[in-house]
Amino acid sequence: MFIEIDGWMAKLRFSSCHFIPEHPKCGCLHGHTYAISVRIEGEQVGEFIIDFEKVKGIVNELCDRLDHKVMIAEKDPRLRIQKGDGMSIEIIGSRQRYVLPLEDVVLLPTRSVSAEDLCKYFTSGIAEALKSNGADNVKKIHVRLDEGIGQGAGCEFEM
Ligand SMILES: [Zn+2]
Repeated sequence: MFIEIDGWMAKLRFSSCHFIPEHPKCGCLHGHTYAISVRIEGEQVGEFIIDFEKVKGIVNELCDRLDHKVMIAEKDPRLRIQKGDGMSIEIIGSRQRYVLPLEDVVLLPTRSVSAEDLCKYFTSGIAEALKSNGADNVKKIHVRLDEGIGQGAGCEFEM
């Protein structure tokens, strides 16, 4: 059995900036509204597999960290990231150099900020939060991250 939450309909959304270094179109800083949809498979215990509100709380917390920020992949081998004076951060690619206020930037522990890598980031964040919430009856999670309406990336994780 499973429960499903549609990120667009349930407002599990965030708006952020990113760029994909060296990509002909996506290499420039630009933004998207993203939505996170989740399917949780497991055994029903009492009334629920898991309370919808609990899942939405977990996803919203992850979305809030990224909302209205510039997302930068800390492990991107194409970028040099310099945290200088504690106020700003410098991001250097092969054809750009951005200096941004430190508080506007979120450094993600990923190799890129593509839909695929962002989806993996959300999947592991959701899995961790479910584990620490003691949701032992949950067997598998599916996460889809949409980059605007009509395109996205999906991940599965066995708990
Ligand atoms: Zn993009």
